[in-house]
Amino acid sequence: MAATIKVTNPATGELIQEVKADTEEEIHLALRRGHESFRKWSKTNAHERSRLLKLWSKKIQEHKDDLAKIMTMESGKPLHESLGEVDYATSYIDWYAEEAKRLYGRTIPANTESKRIIVSRQPVGLVAAITPWNFPAAMMTRKAAPALAAGCTFVVKPAEDTPLTTMKLIELAHEAGIPADVIQCVNGYGSEVGKIFTESKYVRKITFTGSTPVGKLLIRDSASTVKHVSMELGGHAPVIVAHDADIDLAVEQTIASKFRNAGQTCICANRVLVHESIVEEFAEKLTKEVKKLKVGNGLEKGTQIGPVINEKGFNKIVSQVNDAISKGAEVLCGNKYNANREKGYFFVYPTVLKNVNENMKIMQEETFGPILPITTFQELEEAVNIANSTPYGLAAYFFTNDYRTGIYLHEHLDFGIIGWNDGSPSAAHAPFGGMKESGIGREGGVEGIEPYLETKYLSIGGI
Ligand code: ADP
Repeated sequence: MAATIKVTNPATGELIQEVKADTEEEIHLALRRGHESFRKWSKTNAHERSRLLKLWSKKIQEHKDDLAKIMTMESGKPLHESLGEVDYATSYIDWYAEEAKRLYGRTIPANTESKRIIVSRQPVGLVAAITPWNFPAAMMTRKAAPALAAGCTFVVKPAEDTPLTTMKLIELAHEAGIPADVIQCVNGYGSEVGKIFTESKYVRKITFTGSTPVGKLLIRDSASTVKHVSMELGGHAPVIVAHDADIDLAVEQTIASKFRNAGQTCICANRVLVHESIVEEFAEKLTKEVKKLKVGNGLEKGTQIGPVINEKGFNKIVSQVNDAISKGAEVLCGNKYNANREKGYFFVYPTVLKNVNENMKIMQEETFGPILPITTFQELEEAVNIANSTPYGLAAYFFTNDYRTGIYLHEHLDFGIIGWNDGSPSAAHAPFGGMKESGIGREGGVEGIEPYLETKYLSIGGI
């Protein structure tokens, strides 16, 4: 295993810090500690766990500015987005600090006078999490907070690109009084650490946010020990703009959905399907606004689009754009880059493409970049068929002021998260997750703690 991980700033290519990678023995030890501390932590009363989670949230808020700066430096996202992510990350901790106190069981009327039936909930055990680089804080807390609230212990492996935010969050958890073995961080390369996690007999649950291919591997490898799995995987979000839509709202919300984190979120709009009667107006208004977006280093004031995370991500974006253009897409703006492979930074200017069709890679594969392809439809059914045509089912958006259209789309779109006149649906109090190859399970809301709980049924006889 590699001895260190070089963390660089994707806006400049400069080295920020070299992080020690944990050895196989160290990772095994962390898992054993997590397992051994489970007995005590799971028996800590829910009010105490809630109190500690609230203290953790408070500590994070006290370090909001430092954390946001670290996040921008290692992930490239604009500082105002990093500050927003700190709030988003603590909103999960605050929510599950409350939910910890509401893990209710139930009693079931028995079919004989001599019995009583009690159903209770208990934590699944040690949870191992693997998180991505696009939301280094929030993707961790929305796993750690329900896990700890439920009484599970937790070990996380952050993405190699962005371990520093996570390491800081774990440090703050310990400062807040959460025992060191209850929440831990290990560093290393995905496939190596993933294997150790899935093969470990101590780990009872794997929770992962990342790409669909890696999610499939983790599901497969978890089978040998029948672990619980939660998977937040890739997406390919459609935006459907119906003929009666409020076009200005649709433009504003599509931009909010598409260009957050330079288009690198799994619920980013990945294709826009516009009714053919309004496509000219929509495309013109959208392009006018997209051209105003400021590209730059996330630490600079006013930056709205930072760099993309790394060369691999950059190459994928460029190949999708070139493929679309070679197959007839029209460039309305963008298709411009500021990249330096030697230094290691990659900026992609926000790009709008028109006349795209389903034969283009961009209409099938997740883009993870600031590229917005527009296509048209005539009938709603056609829009639904196009929207549902990929293996993904994470987020979908539609714009209409007609309630029949809205209800029709809501009922026919095979997606776990739907935004109706809303491009920013994520919230700690609502269940986030995908259908089809976009995942298993939900994070957030009352649903988000369920995956960390087992149901135990007690039948008392002889009464
Ligand atoms: P991306 O390609 O966008 O980086 P990944 O799914 O590769 O998405 O990465 C998300 C997380 O999964 C990261 O923490 C990464 O280290 C981890 N990872 C990558 N490959 C594997 C693997 N084979 N097994 C387990 N984790 C992995």
